[in-house]
Amino acid sequence: MKYRWEKYFLPVSLKEALELIDVHRDHVKVIAGGTDLIVSLEKEDSFIAVIVDISRISELKGISVKKNAINIGAGVTLSAIEQSETVRKHVPFLAKAVHQIGSPQIRNIATLVGNVANASPAADGVLPLLALDSTVTLLSESRGERKMPLSMFLIGPGKTSCNPEELITGVQFPVPDVRARGSFEKVGLRKAMNIAVANVSIAAEMVDGTVKNSRIALGAVGPTAMRVPEAERALNEQSINEEEITDTVSDLCMQGCMPIDDLRASAAYRKKIVRALVKRCLKNLSSPVQEPAA
Ligand SMILES: Cc1cc2nc3c(=O)[nH]c(=O)nc-3n(C[C@H](O)[C@H](O)[C@H](O)COP(=O)(O)OP(=O)(O)OC[C@H]3O[C@@H](n4cnc5c(N)ncnc54)[C@H](O)[C@@H]3O)c2cc1C
Repeated sequence: MKYRWEKYFLPVSLKEALELIDVHRDHVKVIAGGTDLIVSLEKEDSFIAVIVDISRISELKGISVKKNAINIGAGVTLSAIEQSETVRKHVPFLAKAVHQIGSPQIRNIATLVGNVANASPAADGVLPLLALDSTVTLLSESRGERKMPLSMFLIGPGKTSCNPEELITGVQFPVPDVRARGSFEKVGLRKAMNIAVANVSIAAEMVDGTVKNSRIALGAVGPTAMRVPEAERALNEQSINEEEITDTVSDLCMQGCMPIDDLRASAAYRKKIVRALVKRCLKNLSSPVQEPAA
């Protein structure tokens, strides 16, 4: 049998994990749930010298509300997010998106931060986080803490701005205004265990039927999950119930994305799906109650 790694560490404190990552920075990989990392190791000739498993670190397992921001730690599983009262109350569309990842078994071990760090353009958890204007917190033994907008953190398929000596400790976003609404929609090739052909998330404030501060995120239609500023500008200060507006916004999203043909779908089909999903999300936003988690 071929060994896929040489050393596997299971630290129980953040300090210990940071020291290990720092010492082995040239050949280390962090593992949280392992649902992406272990699959990637199945590829022929895959080898990682040192793995640091962060799943036993209690400091990373919390969902907290501080200074009007919600923080989700790097050790929080997708199942814990689905069940979190804080998430279900303030951002039910994040719970809905997370519920659509993999299967219950996957969600019981996989983390939202792992979904972000893996930087798949189709990652379902990333889209509501982009629509919520999230920030990623990175920590290293030698350089301390830094924060970065998620929109800048994702730089390409499988590529992020995380340096080798850094650990992502969490993602955070402002507690949404009481007038805020959010929506997430996904199309895949089957109903479960389903990587998105395209996915869309939109967050906005609704003031007397008028949209303010909208953020539109599209997935699986570019090298990273992406925001569409032109479409956001066209939506702001408009009535969401006017068909002309929803047509314009969904057309701008379709024009603003850069899908490719692959084994799941053609680029042309993905554009059509994006248009339909944006319309569906906008319709959801106009409903008086936020979407409950599925
Ligand atoms: C059967 C199956 C179905 C799936 N279905 C879906 C789906 O429907 N939608 C979807 O979006 N995804 C899906 N996935 C992918 C995967 O489950 C998710 O991306 C999951 O959220 C990854 O989390 P994890 O904790 O398992 O990450 P891991 O595999 O532990 O890590 C993923 C990557 O992130 C890095 N990393 C993790 N945590 C940190 C950290 N704190 N700091 C720095 N780097 C870190 C790791 O080094 C690795 O490169 C599926 C996977 C499988 C196996």
